[in-house]
Order: sequence, then structure tokens, then C-alpha cells
Amino acid sequence: RSFAELRISRAVLDALEHAGYRHPTPIQEAIIPLALRGRDVIGQSQTGTGKTAAYLLPFLTRWRPHRFRGPIGLVMVPTRELALQVSAEAHKLAPCRRFRVVTLYGGVPLERQTRLLKHSTDLVVGTPGRLLDHLRRGTLQLRDVRYVVLDEADRMLDIGFRPDIERILRHCPSQRQTLLMSATVPEAVLRLVHRYMTDPQHVNL
Ligand code: AMP
Repeated sequence: RSFAELRISRAVLDALEHAGYRHPTPIQEAIIPLALRGRDVIGQSQTGTGKTAAYLLPFLTRWRPHRFRGPIGLVMVPTRELALQVSAEAHKLAPCRRFRVVTLYGGVPLERQTRLLKHSTDLVVGTPGRLLDHLRRGTLQLRDVRYVVLDEADRMLDIGFRPDIERILRHCPSQRQTLLMSATVPEAVLRLVHRYMTDPQHVNL
């Protein structure tokens, strides 16, 4: 199957071609149709499988110019390195140059990030601790978020981010789509699934 057959938008198909992605990987073939139908998805897969594009492409395909201050999409990740990788992938596959991604992680001053958040934003990618810092200061608002991804959920829980993740999810509207990516799905991950996801489809690749 091709990306066009998976109903990726024209603008994003152009970005994929430019990025040199010719064919969807198995996890992309499995997740993209489900996510485009609006389903919540548990994606069980390792890194290196194309899991990042699997959850970004449905969001990027459905993106339209909007009047929200945003963000309309939120990706939570365990580490700064992963935050930077996911942001780079989102930029690479974005439908247009105006698409704005803000990356938020700890260990650097809040001020620069706060300045970036003053403009309208499409996607925020961040680590839970720093996301919560911004929420508490009122420099980040999540009321326009419609698409939430918990990436490497098992690692985030191992680090001890569970309370932060739950607080952040409670700031998001309940009318939203939630995707959870995890290499393993232990009981702790399932508890998050039961509490914060709606009738999720489980994909294991
Ligand atoms: P990930 O599993 O998301 O960390 O992706 C692993 C690597 O595969 C990254 O460098 C991606 O840029 C690349 N990649 C993802 N999807 C595709 C694809 N369909 N074709 C070629 N490369 C891809």
C-alpha cells in the first residue's frame, strides 16, 4: 500500500516525498487508518519502526489553518532527546511552512520557551515535568487540544512521570483523540489506558 492509499493529504504526501519516505512501514499501515477514523490507539512497537510518523501523519493530514491559539496537538515524551527528534520529524512532514511546533523540556530557562508560546501554535512536544511547569504558570493552555500522544509511555512511567501525565491529561478537553505508544504494555500502562482512553484499538507490530 502507498501513503496515498492510506489517505494522507496532498500537502503531506509532498512532504513525505521530499523526506524520501516511499512506502509506509507496517506500524504506519496499521495505525494511520485507525487514527484517521478518529479511534484511540495503543501502538505497541519499538523505536526504529517508524512509530513517530505513524502517530504524526494522521494529525498532519487532518490539519487545516485554524483560528485557535493552540496547540491543537500535544505529544508527551520521556526525554529531551526524544522531544527534539519528534519535533524534527513533525517539521519535516508538516503540510506547510506556517505549521508551528514548540518543543518544551527541562534543564533550560523557561523564558525562551514562554516567548515561543506567545504565538499561535499547532503542536507542542514536551516532557511532562516541563509541560506541567508551563501549565502552572499559565504560559501553556491546552483547551484547544484535540489530539494527544503519549510516546514511550512505559519509559515515562518508569521515570516516575505518572502524576504529571495525569495532571496534564486533566487539562486537556475530554473531547479529544488519544494515542499511546509503548514498547511494553505492563499493568501500569493499562491503568493509564483505562482511565484516559476511549475504546482503544491495540496494534502490536
Ligand atoms: P522511529 O521509529 O519513529 O524512531 O523512526 C525510525 C526512522 O525511520 C526515522 O529516522 C524516520 O525518519 C524513518 N522513517 C519513518 N517512517 C519511514 C518511512 N515510511 N520510510 C522511510 N523512513 C522512515
